Amino acid sequence: MPSYTPPLRDMQFLLHEVLHVTEALHAMPPHAEMDADTLTAVLEEGGKFASEVIFPLNQVGDEQGCQLDTRTHEVKTPDGFKAAYAQYVQGGWPSLSCDPAYGGQGLPIVVNQCLYEMLNSANQAWTMYPGLTHGAYEALHAHGTEAQKQCYLPKLTSGEWTGTMCLTEPHCGTDLGLLRTKAEPQADGTYRITGNKIFISAGEHDMVSNIVHLVLARLPDAPAGSKGISLFAVPKFLVLDDGSLGERNGIYCGGLEHKMGIHGNATCQMVLDGALGTLVGQPHKGLAAMFVMMNVARIGVGMQSLGLTEVAYQNALAYAKERIQSRSLTGVKSPNQPADSILVHPDVRKMLLTAKAYAEGGRALSLHCALLVDQELSHPDPAVRAEAAEQVALLTPIVKAFITDNAWIATSACMQVLGGHGFIREWGMEQYVRDARINMIYEGTNTIQSLDLLGRKVLGNQGASLKKFGAQITALVMAEQGNEDMAEFIQPLAKLGQQMTQFTGEIGYKALQNADEVGAAAVDYLRVAGHLVFGYFWARMAQVALQRIAAGDRDPFYQAKLQTARFYFAKLFPETASLMQTARAGSAVLMDTDAVFA
Ligand SMILES: Cc1cc2nc3c(=O)[nH]c(=O)nc-3n(C[C@H](O)[C@H](O)[C@H](O)COP(=O)(O)OP(=O)(O)OC[C@H]3O[C@@H](n4cnc5c(N)ncnc54)[C@H](O)[C@@H]3O)c2cc1C
Repeated sequence: MPSYTPPLRDMQFLLHEVLHVTEALHAMPPHAEMDADTLTAVLEEGGKFASEVIFPLNQVGDEQGCQLDTRTHEVKTPDGFKAAYAQYVQGGWPSLSCDPAYGGQGLPIVVNQCLYEMLNSANQAWTMYPGLTHGAYEALHAHGTEAQKQCYLPKLTSGEWTGTMCLTEPHCGTDLGLLRTKAEPQADGTYRITGNKIFISAGEHDMVSNIVHLVLARLPDAPAGSKGISLFAVPKFLVLDDGSLGERNGIYCGGLEHKMGIHGNATCQMVLDGALGTLVGQPHKGLAAMFVMMNVARIGVGMQSLGLTEVAYQNALAYAKERIQSRSLTGVKSPNQPADSILVHPDVRKMLLTAKAYAEGGRALSLHCALLVDQELSHPDPAVRAEAAEQVALLTPIVKAFITDNAWIATSACMQVLGGHGFIREWGMEQYVRDARINMIYEGTNTIQSLDLLGRKVLGNQGASLKKFGAQITALVMAEQGNEDMAEFIQPLAKLGQQMTQFTGEIGYKALQNADEVGAAAVDYLRVAGHLVFGYFWARMAQVALQRIAAGDRDPFYQAKLQTARFYFAKLFPETASLMQTARAGSAVLMDTDAVFA
């Protein structure tokens, strides 16, 4: 049986020693009173909920999956899911970082992010039910009418209702411009919506009394393509003027997908049969409104993979400490045992360190990003808000794609640490590998994230946002250039920072002649950018660890941090050289291949 311990020590380190989160929050009026003790108390309670209530349901959820009653269209979630959700609502967790105007507690996003990492470590499938709700909340909060906000936000905030995002159709996934679901205006200002959606996470379930679907559809006069898509709020049960539930709406689950992982989450085929909905935002501007939800969801997907990387690492480490097999190459280490622990083998350590470096690097990046979101939402200075928004936009595809790609590498490495037992169900490791795989696909595949990063966020503004991130690297390099202890971190980081400018310029120049050059380089490019960002945070974490050690702090946490930073820069970061080489191979080697595919 796997186990899970919330990584509170590392969260505290990042929040207080690296990101200095309370000082940053004090500059934001809604969070001016926030103190470290409150943060700690929330994280400790959240960690308890995740490890004691949600984690024990992870394997049972995987084994049982969800069941659809084809007669009633109701979906039953695995044993224990509904009761755990009721406990979650009772504990006030859904409202943690929601707007107090709608019943929220108004805590910073950075706190919610820590909670979500822990929930995802404990049980990704379960966590998707409240996770998607948060995206629906954000979209309605940003684009809903006052009536929609009053109707939906208090119930989404309290968690009494959940939300979904209904984009995908059988013939349309990445290219939403192809979608066909139709919305017919009614005399009373509402719309009747008809069409078929597939792959809708949490589309139907038994945990709440109502589900608010945010549905993309076309108005009769809509222009073709992505410029003709509108967004609608479509509740499972219509809501009466007094807030009580009325008739069952014409949106129901027609089938459940059978899938590789996240079995405890209902992935639904949704049929809309003249379902009644209201327009969210402007006609034909649905994608812009939905993007609010998708950006929240993209960072959320990064948190899913961060959670899986952490829990896989913890269990692989526990196994490696217990498992004895073969002798160390440098001589017997445990003479009283018939063999040494597998921790004596360099490659086992490499696999464990890979997972640890990706978990802790991912945590640093996502908490940094969450704090930027707090600044974007709550800082009084418009210039700071704009700067934060620009950095969030740049980093979002990296959070989504780099962390999820790393989780696939890391969970697979952790499975390898367990040898054959990693492949056997009862150990729980193979579930982490299966669950991690979807994170690279949904919310825009990782290829689409890389095109977003290189095409829009970097080349689209002549590298201006990237240069701003680069300025933080330069400041760190300048501050530490005389410090010999930091050289092993700072030198490779500074070198990549310089190379990045030329590398980006080369792709941009080639793309002027041939747009396929962007598509051919983008995935490698995102991985290089991911390492640049991780390298920056690993150098900062090493900097703090070195300072604490120099000050005489004997907490082994700092030695472990330093050793992991050394491993990261020596064994993972150097893949940037081969990635730049493969990116430079250009598009011809991919596109002049018609004979291969004839
Ligand atoms: C378990 C699960 C849960 C999901 N939950 C939801 C949900 O809640 N709501 C929802 O609306 N959807 C959901 N989805 C759908 C998911 O977001 C889509 O599967 C995803 O966006 C990809 O679309 P597709 O499957 O149609 O693949 P396609 O778009 O057909 O892509 C196929 C391949 O072509 C590549 N490709 C496509 N276009 C380009 C391009 N322009 N450039 C380069 N490569 C390209 C893709 O990267 C991919 O490798 C879910 C899917 C799954 C499996």
